[in-house]
Amino acid sequence: MSWQVDCVIGGDSVRGEGPTSTVVDPATEAPIAEVPFASEAQIDAAVRAAQDAFPGWAGATVHERSLVLLGIADAIESWADTLAQIEARNCGKPFQRMLEDEIHHIADPFRFYAGAARCLSGPSAGEYVEGRTSFLRHDPLGVVGLIAPWNYPLMMASWKLAPALAAGNTVVLKPSELTPLSTLLLADILAAHLPPGVLNVVPGGRDVGAAIVAHPDVRMVSVTGAISTGQAVMRAAAGNLKRLHLELGGKAPVVAYADADVESLVATVRGAGYYNAGQDCTAACRVVAHADIYDDVVAGLTEAAGSLVVGAPFDEGTELGPVISARQRDSARGFLERLPAHARVTTGGRPVDRPGYFLEPTVVADVELGDEIVEREVFAPVVSVTRFTNEAEMLRAVNDTPYGLAASLWTRDVGRAMRVSAALEYGCVWVNEHLLWPTEMPHGGLKMSGMGKEMSVLGLKDYLAARHVMIRH
Ligand code: NAD
Repeated sequence: MSWQVDCVIGGDSVRGEGPTSTVVDPATEAPIAEVPFASEAQIDAAVRAAQDAFPGWAGATVHERSLVLLGIADAIESWADTLAQIEARNCGKPFQRMLEDEIHHIADPFRFYAGAARCLSGPSAGEYVEGRTSFLRHDPLGVVGLIAPWNYPLMMASWKLAPALAAGNTVVLKPSELTPLSTLLLADILAAHLPPGVLNVVPGGRDVGAAIVAHPDVRMVSVTGAISTGQAVMRAAAGNLKRLHLELGGKAPVVAYADADVESLVATVRGAGYYNAGQDCTAACRVVAHADIYDDVVAGLTEAAGSLVVGAPFDEGTELGPVISARQRDSARGFLERLPAHARVTTGGRPVDRPGYFLEPTVVADVELGDEIVEREVFAPVVSVTRFTNEAEMLRAVNDTPYGLAASLWTRDVGRAMRVSAALEYGCVWVNEHLLWPTEMPHGGLKMSGMGKEMSVLGLKDYLAARHVMIRH
């Protein structure tokens, strides 16, 4: 199978005129597409096309835009099989999991924002100063740049596109250079519903992303990626003080108290720690278990991780595919090679002996708060387990990190759940749960995990300018 990946500019598919890059199937290491990147002139043309389309799209009634979004959600579902096939091939995701677990989260934001855009709220219009009436407007910003990562190419594109379009903005979207294939089909699907120029796609790497960020006519940029990328984007955006929306790295603690339901925790981490081969910014990758249940947690996780079925994306029963690239695999191996002497690998720890970037699902026990594997994002199927006895010390350590995206807390004590969920400095805290994302609730980090929210009404407001109008009469 071989794909052609073009730019989409003003409704036309055009060959990229920048450097070319090879897209590789991570399950076989075979090249599957040559992707010519957008040139600087083409990025500029995409921004101009989006600017030209803006008055029409922003000027449509919210009802009209809403109908378009509902049509897009249906279309995504009707293309589910093909989208899942391409995503599985390009990312190494198990096809069946992609179909069952991710398509919903790609279609649903369009449905949610079709409704949410019609229900915006704010202070009532009124005479807050005598003889003057004030009211609030929520207006689209103009052209927004959306930059997606490789771990969930379609889902991250959808989480950004749906609110941006519902708000009335026009878009220049850049998929990751490693995983551009499904985004081009998504763009085709959307093109049947959107006026030309409302959605433009420019394939490319960091340079193409940087050109979008630097463009003076792009009013806002939303990026999902690494913390270092967020920092580079923020530096570049300082020149024209662009609005930024940054969804960055994470290292989610799983705090298990002595009264935790260990069986439920183990079953949940089996999924949430290893889903997408652990390449998830909210993966349940940092278990911190009370000394009273520590041995049971380690034994349970060791057995659970060891039972995961590693295989090719299209093999029946596959639960865990490869990581995205040789670089990602080697980076994870580096963490394992640098483990301190007190660490104990209880299962996994090696590459799988087959072509492709496969790593065994791994549990590293007996590591301590402060160890590299506990503190830094590995982004691979590796879960660490640490023991705690003193709650205050544990909470201090779990909060003393640059990350603040998501955490989970395991206890049967409702009072403790209320107290500790408030104390954990993370954008999302699950109690006796991990890795569930209803579209109605916001997703976004604190501290260096980013700023701004995806999904929920808050996600919509991030793509709108709130403006006060006062009329003297
Ligand atoms: P990455 O930062 O390497 O790349 C992300 C995107 O940014 C890519 O499209 C890339 O081409 C682009 N990019 C890179 N440098 C840029 C620059 N200087 N200017 C503009 N664009 C630039 O990240 P990745 O490796 O694709 O994804 C993995 C990272 O994403 C992990 O750290 C993960 O935690 C994070 N992530 C966060 C969330 C979240 O919601 N917070 C979700 C998924 C992934």
